[in-house]
Amino acid sequence: MTSVRLPLLPRREAELTTCAYCPKLCRAACPVADVEASETLTPWGKMSLAWFAARGSVPLSESVAASAFACTGCLACQARCDHKNPVALTLLEARAAVRAAGFGHEAAERIDLEEVAARRAAGLRALAEREGVDPGARTALLLGTAYLTRELDAARAAIAVVSRLLGPVRLLHASGGEVERGVGMRAEADAAEAALLSEAAGLRVIVLDPGCMTSALRAAGALTVVELVAERLAELTPVPALATGVWRWHDPCRLGRGLGVYDEPRAILTRLTGRPPLEFSRAREAAVCSGAGGLLPITMPEASRGIAEARLGDHERLGGGTVVTACASSVRRFRASGAAVVDLVELVAQGLPAGRPLPTQGQ
Ligand code: SF4
Ligand code: SF4
Repeated sequence: MTSVRLPLLPRREAELTTCAYCPKLCRAACPVADVEASETLTPWGKMSLAWFAARGSVPLSESVAASAFACTGCLACQARCDHKNPVALTLLEARAAVRAAGFGHEAAERIDLEEVAARRAAGLRALAEREGVDPGARTALLLGTAYLTRELDAARAAIAVVSRLLGPVRLLHASGGEVERGVGMRAEADAAEAALLSEAAGLRVIVLDPGCMTSALRAAGALTVVELVAERLAELTPVPALATGVWRWHDPCRLGRGLGVYDEPRAILTRLTGRPPLEFSRAREAAVCSGAGGLLPITMPEASRGIAEARLGDHERLGGGTVVTACASSVRRFRASGAAVVDLVELVAQGLPAGRPLPTQGQ
């Protein structure tokens, strides 16, 4: 134990105080607290611990520090909160504060960031010669680390989809720093985000992984691939081979609660398959996350697996089928638990026939 205080209060005092004095109105929203059956890991518990540690009311310890890492960033608590308190964002800052105080998460610290960067670079090299990729294009596609390192087929589909709708795309190389922020490396994450904004400046940006949509990119007009396709829905061709499938839509947290994009993926699936997708018991604003976010598969692998399996249990009870989503981490998480799962962008690519002439820039 140590008497070190977290230097959180000046930046996040309002958020921490609001939670600490709250009668836990979002208590049932948190998938981590739910799967761990832990009062301490409710949003109220995690925020209160950070608040007490920041005030010096409780000594900083490994367990206090670890609570900041017990968050997928699903935003369910914020959606349930009358104050729309940004718990996930505040806990990311708490991660940086505990790490700076010498209490970084052991498993997160073992992430080899150089190796992640090498795998990102390998992914970008593998995609550089694809049809539709042009390093001088004015439209930029941000694929995201999870797609570049784990879901290259979906990344290829995204290139096909965006280039068929908007013309050639350049692939953005900067990462945005999402892994570094999850580890608690704030300075490195801020530098990576600044590099991304610099690389994207003056370009029309389309984002594949909704978790990579920063507020600055959004403010500059960036769209997700899902939103772009929904805007051009009439150009999608229904795919007869998909009409016989059983498809259930899983709302990615950062696309749904993060960006408010709920109707668009459902409209796309309806267009492609001929009927609306099936729904989970808890969908749209109330959707439960896959357990894949916030580095939880690394910091709390059993909890992450438990959250995914609970979600998939609901899927099976409702009749099963194929889960469709638009988040590489969720695809990977569900697949690891044995589910049939596909990324929406791979279905969309089937509805935009190859050989379609590429529009020129500006169209
Ligand atoms: S996020 Fe909102 S509802 Fe949840 S504990 Fe904090 S103030 Fe209360
Ligand atoms: S963002 Fe999600 S995982 Fe994190 S505290 Fe809130 S409900 Fe729990």
